[in-house]
Amino acid sequence: MKAVIISVGTELLFGQTTDTNAVYLSQQLQLLGIDVMYRHTVGDNPARFRQMLDLSYQDCDLVITTGGLGPTQDDLTKEIVTEALDDRLVLHAPSLEKIEGFFRQMKRPMTENNKKQAYMPSKAVILENAQGTAPGFALESGGRTAICLPGPPREMTAMFVSGVRPYLETRTESAMYYKMLRTFGIGESALETVLQDLIDGQTDPTLATYAKEGECSLRIASKRPARAEAEQAVAEMLAKVKVRVGEFIYSEDDTDLATVAGRKLIESGISISCAESCTGGLFAAGLTGIPGISTVFGRGFVTYSNASKTEELGVSAEILERHGAVSEETALAMARGLQKRSGSRIAISVTGIAGPEGGTPEKPVGLAYIGCIFDGKEVCKRVMSRNVNRNWNRNHTVLSMFAVIRGLIEA
Ligand code: ATP
Ligand code: MG
Repeated sequence: MKAVIISVGTELLFGQTTDTNAVYLSQQLQLLGIDVMYRHTVGDNPARFRQMLDLSYQDCDLVITTGGLGPTQDDLTKEIVTEALDDRLVLHAPSLEKIEGFFRQMKRPMTENNKKQAYMPSKAVILENAQGTAPGFALESGGRTAICLPGPPREMTAMFVSGVRPYLETRTESAMYYKMLRTFGIGESALETVLQDLIDGQTDPTLATYAKEGECSLRIASKRPARAEAEQAVAEMLAKVKVRVGEFIYSEDDTDLATVAGRKLIESGISISCAESCTGGLFAAGLTGIPGISTVFGRGFVTYSNASKTEELGVSAEILERHGAVSEETALAMARGLQKRSGSRIAISVTGIAGPEGGTPEKPVGLAYIGCIFDGKEVCKRVMSRNVNRNWNRNHTVLSMFAVIRGLIEA
């Protein structure tokens, strides 16, 4: 299957909205083994949209559009696509009911133009919109397929997962299967070097590394006639990869490190509190981003100044003076004070130099110490972030804190 993505919306041409939909769709189609040949952006102009559509079907058989499905005058995608694929719009009763229900629930009057959203091509497969009112659809005619999705990214991605992906999976002749592994503690170049011979000369499964801020992902993908074969091929490659870099892999389904560590805390019912200096609450924010964390998260302090480290955590002036605020001694003293105050089984602290100023040859920018007490056992980890910028250093330090927690629970 050869695909074209058409993003519809004048605001995209103005540069007011960044076209994240096309990026998402490109990634998802690739994972399904569908080749994306072109990506176009058109304004809310029927003639030019129609032209793009006709052009696309000259050498491709699948067009996916986003935007222009809504109730307003300039939302013309549905009308144009229906016409191009020789169908007509008819009232789709279940969609109308849903839209009416939505307005009832919101206690808002439903305007006449909202009915427009319930008219769908007569031969289309309707794709439900769980996040909004405008349904999407898939329409086939004479070997040409169009899939039309709403513009708001939240609605579009939800519809892709629930409706489009299953629809496309039944239509592709080969099955794609992949695993997205996430690693921490090994750089992209090191990862590539260790896996070089597996990456080279690969045809199927393919192996690709992606560097992210302070961590690295690894995708193993296989495209075979049957899904079971693809799964088998990925499993075999995964086993080989694990022999070499297993210790760095923290998830096999693209789950982020904070979530992996947070879920472990929740599952094992281990209470936690934190005291942060250089990360200023980023760790606590990461932790509280995980649903259900309230069962284990006690409290978080941002102790940025020396005075607050002393007043809130009881770090002695002597330690701060003798070893400095950024030191193993201070990090551990913070963790001890925190443990006493919170009574949490894990007390984790961090102190470091985020930059860009404040570094010295002995204590360069990017250096941080993580102090952690888990059921009385004390550890301190020295972290050296690659000093890209202040944000990078802070984010990488937070990741390191989650890595420490994960390591301690698993040990
Ligand atoms: P609605 O029912 O909200 O009108 P729609 O399907 O008609 O949905 P548009 O009106 O084209 O979609 O776009 C709605 C909003 O969705 C835009 O204001 C924009 O914020 C966002 N949006 C549209 N297209 C894209 C895109 N390609 N990438 C990211 N965001 C987009
Ligand atoms: Mg609209």
